[in-house]
Amino acid sequence: MTINRRQFLKWAGLSTASAVVLNACGIPERELEIQSPLRLPEDLVKGIDNWYATQCGHCSGGCGVVVRVVEGRAKKIEGNLDYPVNRGRHSARCEAGLQALYHPDRIKAPLRRTGDRGSGQFQEIGWQEALRDLTTRLGNIRRSGQADSVVIATEPLRGHLGMVVNRFVESYGATYLRYEPMDIVVLRRAMKKVFNQDRLPDLDLDHANFLLSFGADFLGTWVSPVRFSRGYGEFRQGKERHHRGYFVQVEPRLSHTGANADDWIPVAPGMEGALAMSLAYVIIDENVDGLGETDAARSLTGGKGSAALTQYAPENIVSTLGIPTLRGIDPASKIRALARRFAQERPSLAIGGGSAAAHTNGLDNLVAIYSLNYLVGSVNTKGGVIFNPPSPIPGVPDSSSGSTLTEWESVVTRLRKGTPKPVNLILARGVDPIYSLPSITGFKEALGDTFLVTISNFMDETTLNADLILPEEMYLEAWGDDIPDPGPGYLAFGVQQPVVKPQPGLDLNGGFGDILLTLANGIGGDVKQPWNSFKDVLFEGYEALYEVPGGSIKSGTYEGFWTGILQRGGWWNVNHQNTTAASKPKILKTLAEAKFYPPHATDSYFLLPFNSLGIDDGRYAHLPWLQAMPDPISTAVWSTWVEINSKSAEELGLREGDIVELVVDNRRIEVLIDPNPAVPPMTLLVPMGGGHTNYGRYSKGRGSNVLGILAPLKDTGTDSLAWAATKVKLVKTNRHVSMPRFEGDVPSVETEPGRIIKLTRPEH
Ligand code: SF4
Repeated sequence: MTINRRQFLKWAGLSTASAVVLNACGIPERELEIQSPLRLPEDLVKGIDNWYATQCGHCSGGCGVVVRVVEGRAKKIEGNLDYPVNRGRHSARCEAGLQALYHPDRIKAPLRRTGDRGSGQFQEIGWQEALRDLTTRLGNIRRSGQADSVVIATEPLRGHLGMVVNRFVESYGATYLRYEPMDIVVLRRAMKKVFNQDRLPDLDLDHANFLLSFGADFLGTWVSPVRFSRGYGEFRQGKERHHRGYFVQVEPRLSHTGANADDWIPVAPGMEGALAMSLAYVIIDENVDGLGETDAARSLTGGKGSAALTQYAPENIVSTLGIPTLRGIDPASKIRALARRFAQERPSLAIGGGSAAAHTNGLDNLVAIYSLNYLVGSVNTKGGVIFNPPSPIPGVPDSSSGSTLTEWESVVTRLRKGTPKPVNLILARGVDPIYSLPSITGFKEALGDTFLVTISNFMDETTLNADLILPEEMYLEAWGDDIPDPGPGYLAFGVQQPVVKPQPGLDLNGGFGDILLTLANGIGGDVKQPWNSFKDVLFEGYEALYEVPGGSIKSGTYEGFWTGILQRGGWWNVNHQNTTAASKPKILKTLAEAKFYPPHATDSYFLLPFNSLGIDDGRYAHLPWLQAMPDPISTAVWSTWVEINSKSAEELGLREGDIVELVVDNRRIEVLIDPNPAVPPMTLLVPMGGGHTNYGRYSKGRGSNVLGILAPLKDTGTDSLAWAATKVKLVKTNRHVSMPRFEGDVPSVETEPGRIIKLTRPEH
């Protein structure tokens, strides 16, 4: 069979074609489209490999990627050199997207529950039956006047998928809940409070000279780790820099990011904001030397100067901060020296998140931390916090915040009591509340007879309890887009195109957007939407950018413009920035004190969970590459461990691999002891992500779920879960296993007195 390129293009048609990256630097003016190889007769494309630009949908970091596709199979994912968020960089998590795509435990077709809830007994049904059933239920509930008894639960969604979901929720009248890592809710609120910004600002590490981070593991898992790692690379060794930037990390746990710092300052849990206030005091108090910005100092203190912050003077507060005396430098002197360097070695940037935001005073902590940027003139300026512009496409969200713990609890109350409003149906997508919410909230137990639908490709804990399961095309198979949040400091859209067709044996019916449109149009009336497919939504939506001058894609026709977008992986305009002047900073208020549960437990340890670099909060626990990725500090893999101060472990007679229980009230988990000299006394550090009771063969039964035992304390400023506010008792079990580490189970060798190393191979 011979076919020339023009005939081929005509035959393939635009509607099913994907655009290939032909030239990363420009848009060729000639024909740009070829067909995804999987859709073609084998004899036509055998042996061709193509790289397709698309969005990485494996986390909310908002990176652009290129995917190598050989004969219809995705083989490799790399960062898109062109894309402004990550500029060619990507993460291990991103690579593991291939394992999710070709996972042996992917749900292959719609399933209906046939046994007891949670029994795992399901029967495959066809799409027609599944969608007819769900459409009928949704239609009936709405006609009965109980539309708000339908709860839609998703991760926070941006871009056109966010728009479609919002339109569905609003026109139907459903209740909408969003789940995202809880400290990000606090971060968003802090950005609004401190900078009056609805979107997350970019953090210009690239051009900072002095970086001060409180609890934000920005090189590991926090917010947009690839974007920040790229910026960090520039900060340390950028070609245009005169010298390497200086980096101080403040946090109780020595994280992956902390281990990269020039100076790591351990503080007591919940005291991060107090340290920031102390730094502010010093900068303002010494302002006579021109140390800080005078106007900002005046605004932050209501015109009173440092007198307003006397209680935070280093000497007055140092006893509560938990900062040790190191190398003969007392903590108060250290704070003063740090404040001077931060104020003098500009551009300086102060950032905070992670455990700093996860206390009952989380919002207060972040407000104090980010306000420091006003004192050094780092608000909406190079080397500081850079505001992102709002999306110019009406109705398309450029950011979305998670719901608070209180909102989730109120749905649990409605489930349990049927008041003030009942819950008749839950439709969950991209969230696993049975695993991720503290078990004490009782979400699973409250389900009762409520009809639970999950749109999911894996049998996670919530899906296992569903009545109806609808698998969807994954991000490498489906259309989509994103407005990265945080953006790169200017307007940027990423577009996701299907780079492969679903493998044979998968019975799918489009992505989430397509499924929702089918439901909406099936319900009809004012819920009906003007599109039949999510690709139509995108194709129409991007017309709004065609006329916008100065963007990255130029073409004489809209079709050419759209093809260019697919080739480059998106559209951006470096000149479209948010030039809003920095608002006047608000007065720094006295911080609320961090509270813990149980409140007066002197025999309990502070429990500090942390996001695992590989499996994060458990959402990637089904992927063996990420389970096997060594934790950068402990090198542990495939397990849940507890990092404890080495001396404390010795005093308790505990050694590496001993199994202990962490107990709070009647909730308990088992973890492996991992002594570490960098852990503060009376503090226990536990990675999130283990303890799935389901979620595929690589996840089930591995490790323990630390989220399950948390007390439901909240940040008083946002009502979000204060996930670092629980205290636990440590109970020995007198059992022991070899700790699975990357080094392997090999002998330790004392190379010199007190210096023990592990061999990479056993001694012979
Ligand atoms: S940080 Fe997230 S979005 Fe970026 S490459 Fe990694 S997984 Fe993808």
